[in-house]
Amino acid sequence: MVKSLPSRSEVPIEETWNLKDLFESEEDFNTSLKEIEEEVNIFEEKFKGKIDNPAIILEALEDYASIFEKLVPSGTYASLSLSTDQTNTEAQLQGSKFASLSAKVNSRLSFLNSELVELPNEVLQEAIDISPSYQNYLQKLIIKKQYQLHPEVEKTLAAFSSTFNGPYKLYDTTKMLDTSFENFEVNGYSYPLSYVLFENDWEAESDTDVRRSAFNAFSSKLKEYQHTTAKTYDMHLQIEKTTSDLRGYNSIFDYLLLNQEVDRTLYDRQIDLIMKELAPHMRKYAKLLQKVHGLDRMTFADLKISLDPSYEPKITIEESKKYIEDALGVMGEEYLEMVERSYKERWIDFAQNTGKSTGAFCSSPYGNHPYILISWSSRMNEVFVLAHELGHAGHFYHANKEQNIFNARPSLYFIEAPSTMNEMLVANHLLENSNDPKFKRWVISSIVARTYYHNFVTHLLEAAYQRKVYQRIDEGLPVNAPILNEYKRSVLEEFWGDAVEITEGAELTWMRQPHYYMGLYPYTYSAGLTISTQVSKRVLDEGQVAVDEWTEVLKAGGTKSPIELAKMAGVDITTEKPLRDTIAYIGTLIDELESLTEEIDSK
Ligand SMILES: [Zn+2]
Repeated sequence: MVKSLPSRSEVPIEETWNLKDLFESEEDFNTSLKEIEEEVNIFEEKFKGKIDNPAIILEALEDYASIFEKLVPSGTYASLSLSTDQTNTEAQLQGSKFASLSAKVNSRLSFLNSELVELPNEVLQEAIDISPSYQNYLQKLIIKKQYQLHPEVEKTLAAFSSTFNGPYKLYDTTKMLDTSFENFEVNGYSYPLSYVLFENDWEAESDTDVRRSAFNAFSSKLKEYQHTTAKTYDMHLQIEKTTSDLRGYNSIFDYLLLNQEVDRTLYDRQIDLIMKELAPHMRKYAKLLQKVHGLDRMTFADLKISLDPSYEPKITIEESKKYIEDALGVMGEEYLEMVERSYKERWIDFAQNTGKSTGAFCSSPYGNHPYILISWSSRMNEVFVLAHELGHAGHFYHANKEQNIFNARPSLYFIEAPSTMNEMLVANHLLENSNDPKFKRWVISSIVARTYYHNFVTHLLEAAYQRKVYQRIDEGLPVNAPILNEYKRSVLEEFWGDAVEITEGAELTWMRQPHYYMGLYPYTYSAGLTISTQVSKRVLDEGQVAVDEWTEVLKAGGTKSPIELAKMAGVDITTEKPLRDTIAYIGTLIDELESLTEEIDSK
């Protein structure tokens, strides 16, 4: 039975992460902000108007890196404090304090890039030749040269950066603070409702009446805020469009993809192929769900139920550790040591409490250890979620150690590869160790209903919807709630065909996702999982060689483009093959679910 959640102050400390590794106290956090300001003063005095030769370029970049190395823990501290309890007014103030400092710093340091792009490419190249560790930073600057504006404009825009992030903060405020859900009633019983409860529990509830009622109650509440949320989103989109136009990009897509180091073909391919070729497999899966549960109709609200709810094992936080260690053991000792530390040293926030961010994420501040946020619901599924986040942690644990601050982060296109890789490793490990058809069905349905559903369906349908939105924005048009609802609905209908009824409320799904404030992020989930599906197969087939190559990819951080990183791991993403193979693999998993179900039913 789902209970309402405790407040943050009531959760046991061992289920929370230890932010003291970033700053011992709030006072230390404040002191650090002051020190950063002082360092910026010195930097300005030392370098402004003086960056004109390779030696000074390198000296400036070194000092610049040191300022950013200080900014990172402060920013992480502020945002992590807020993420565990968005209602915490102190944390809100901390966040604002950091945001305004960061805008000020960016504005005052903007002269560095402005002066660098004024220099002839040969001078920048000379600097790269002397110190290749800054190659990444300077090369990207050379590419962006043509989009750089007048130094004073850059300075002004940077000063407004916190304001430009305003829509995202507004979105979160509406979602986490203003939207409060009343209990909903089914057959005389009253049930609590919140974002976390809906996404962690009610969406997967096996009682059809309760599940569909929860969906209706949830959607009606979202609907009350649809216009505010749409207006907030439109504001964000218009900022992106204006920026893209001012800087002279051909389209908003070119602007948003430039930092990802991939072109439009790779982006469009993920969306087009999956919409077309994965859809038939997923419809088959939806029909299987309907059959197994004996549902009169299959609606959008029924898609998250598991194939065999009676089988979903419960698991404690302590028990999860053994599964994770056994599954990720293949990655080697250094990796396991990180996993061990993440539990022991409280890198993970497990608690479920009111005001906590929904979903799960991993934050990997440079120079410190990673932090993971998750709301532990005790479902065995959480092992996959945790393995996923530990995949991000393992990635930056390696990359941050091996690379400087400018070189650690790869393109967004690649970000979800190491995380989804770990989900595949968990699945492979569980499958290897059981012949029980019920357990096997549970594992395979976890991969389909979680790993692939999440990355190839949920986020991909977001991406398909988002592409429609950006096409419209690129034509200079605004969006509002009715338009966003229509786009979302049309994408859902196109994908699910006649297998799933897109009931009222489903069109509001766009309101749930913060990713829309992060550029072209949603499609990258399927891109990452395409790579990791292929690499995890290599780990099964080839063993240690594939693991070693993968570890090198993790260590390479952002020093290579996504195409190069994938190639290092033996996957050629310049062709359609890896994606087609992955879609076909999902098809075989769903076929296997059908035959296992027949086998179980015939007993
Ligand atoms: Zn992820």
